[in-house]
Amino acid sequence: MSRDRSQRQKLERILEARERLFQLAPGGAPDNPIVVGSASLGEARATSLRCPRCDVPSLRVEEHTADTVRGVRLRTLRMRCARCGRERRLWFKLASMLAN
Ligand SMILES: [Zn+2]
Repeated sequence: MSRDRSQRQKLERILEARERLFQLAPGGAPDNPIVVGSASLGEARATSLRCPRCDVPSLRVEEHTADTVRGVRLRTLRMRCARCGRERRLWFKLASMLAN
């Protein structure tokens, strides 16, 4: 049984590392948004992403809001994985806003 336990801990460490990578990737933080042409393209991009825990494209958009973070207009997608139920957030910046 102790072998099972150490296997589980190993798996848990891998999943945690994947979570960190997801947060470090574009869109994982307000100061590192994904730049897209339109809000609907942002949603399409978001729903094609794989949940870092489940490794399948299982993220569903629950809420789409326009926010201003430190003076930058951003779109925030609140998403939930249909499989593991974890909530995730993704940040987008609309390319048209860069010209302003
Ligand atoms: Zn998941």
